[in-house]
Amino acid sequence: MRREEMVRNIRERQQPWDIAVIGGGATGMGVAVDAAARGLGVVLLEAHDFGKGTSSRSTKLVHGGVRYLEQGNIPLVMSALKERGLMRQNAPHLVHDLAFIVPNYSWWEAPFYGIGLKLYDLLAGKYGFGASRLLSKEETLELLPALEPNELRGGVVYYDGQFDDARLLIHLAMTAADHGATLVNYCPATGLTRDADGYVNGVTARDEETGEELTIPARMVVNATGVFTDSIRQMADPAAEPLMVTSQGIHLVFDRSFLKGDTALMVPKTSDGRVLFVIPWHGHAVAGTTDTPVDAPSLEPRPLEEEIEFVLETASRFFVRPPSRKDVLAVFVGLRPLVKGEGKTSALSRDHLIHVDTSGLLTITGGKWTTYRHMAEDTVDHAITLGKLADVECTTKNLRIHGYVEDSAALGSLEVYGSDAEAIRTLAKDPVLAMQLHPALPYIAAEVVWAAREEMARTVEDVLARHTRALFLHAEAAIAMAEPVARLLAAELGRDEAWIKNQVKEFGALAEQYRVV
Ligand SMILES: Cc1cc2nc3c(=O)[nH]c(=O)nc-3n(C[C@H](O)[C@H](O)[C@H](O)COP(=O)(O)OP(=O)(O)OC[C@H]3O[C@@H](n4cnc5c(N)ncnc54)[C@H](O)[C@@H]3O)c2cc1C
Repeated sequence: MRREEMVRNIRERQQPWDIAVIGGGATGMGVAVDAAARGLGVVLLEAHDFGKGTSSRSTKLVHGGVRYLEQGNIPLVMSALKERGLMRQNAPHLVHDLAFIVPNYSWWEAPFYGIGLKLYDLLAGKYGFGASRLLSKEETLELLPALEPNELRGGVVYYDGQFDDARLLIHLAMTAADHGATLVNYCPATGLTRDADGYVNGVTARDEETGEELTIPARMVVNATGVFTDSIRQMADPAAEPLMVTSQGIHLVFDRSFLKGDTALMVPKTSDGRVLFVIPWHGHAVAGTTDTPVDAPSLEPRPLEEEIEFVLETASRFFVRPPSRKDVLAVFVGLRPLVKGEGKTSALSRDHLIHVDTSGLLTITGGKWTTYRHMAEDTVDHAITLGKLADVECTTKNLRIHGYVEDSAALGSLEVYGSDAEAIRTLAKDPVLAMQLHPALPYIAAEVVWAAREEMARTVEDVLARHTRALFLHAEAAIAMAEPVARLLAAELGRDEAWIKNQVKEFGALAEQYRVV
């Protein structure tokens, strides 16, 4: 993907696009993949870097949602379990099975959770990941040796999926581009254009790198801006009633030694009634999450002290070695785009919503990462009808995602790149590019060059937060990596010494928010 070519595509296009998508998170990128794979002309605009919003800040689970089972939302669980199966089938280099243990410290927990998880297996049907079963205390400790053994009676093991969210997003962008989509980052939609009857017939946008104003005519405009959904709807109709509420969730990242082994912990009911996960991820342990209502959406939400304390305190109850503040290597925060409803944010539905404003603006929101493909199919089906577009069937159920390889484990630390790993290895034949950027993390200089040349990374933050996951795994190490990364990027993008200095400074300030002191 080359950014200059993408912007040129927009400038030189002679006819209206079939679909213009606003928002480059999982939802918008899913729509771009679906539309491009059907042969439609699609352009996607992202205000920042692809995945900067919620889609790089999830718990990294590809799951049906055991929690939604308890809420009785069987259709959502079934649909998500099916999507889980399709995600693993289409992106096996990024979606893996993971065993989860629900530990039992009371007599009633084993039969209670055992039956619930059998139902979970059943609902997955042919898309199942493995059968859940009851475990003795010894078996439980064998799988999760870090668990507090005192008063432990046993556990239940069940299987779900896990992934790298930002990496899947980048590979979805590359899939869309492989099918002819035009995608531009750092290009916010600034307004909507209308025809003589007042219907939305395009988008205006600003290229943040050059300041150029772009006018982009389109038969359908899809609003896929997550927690920013209402701000785009209000561009079409300033009086539009808000559809969304927002809640934030935090995750704390620790050294892997807190979670010996490859099995995750699932606590079905914390003191605030939520589920808490502690999962192995990229050689670390990730614990989360919370559900705290927030008033106004922002791109860099901050953790609250009480959220940090809550995750630490809950995790401490289950581990022999309780984690403390000084063990936190990083904290990251995401905002849930939730469709308004009754009750607490944790009880709001995770179903998606398609909404058409009287202006013809098509909004897709809610849902979850796991259901992005289904959400996209639904959206493009609606866009085809409303925009009178060529009626082509959805092809994404069996569409391989960019990077697809079956045996990705053989690729070692470059596993997440899938079929691109070989090209990165070739770059790393140059000893300068084979250099590891920090001893605490596996990333090498060639990955930075690759991100700039092929994945449209533009800033130090893009590289350290999403193209690699350094910032999310170890904030201090990421800060130390900023200067070498800035120099590598500057050489690729033709930037000067002042740019390097500024990037290092900006990234340092941002990364401080990912540290817990
Ligand atoms: C804490 C937490 C944990 C979660 N864990 C999981 C999980 O484990 N599994 C799961 O399946 N789901 C999970 N989810 C849900 C999932 O992450 C979200 O449903 C999904 O990422 C939402 O994607 P999105 O594309 O709708 O929003 P976003 O990813 O936020 O994308 C919206 C994009 O729109 C862009 N934008 C805004 N305004 C403009 C504009 N004017 N012009 C252009 N672009 C604009 C933003 O920059 C942003 O990148 C979790 C969510 C949270 C908050």
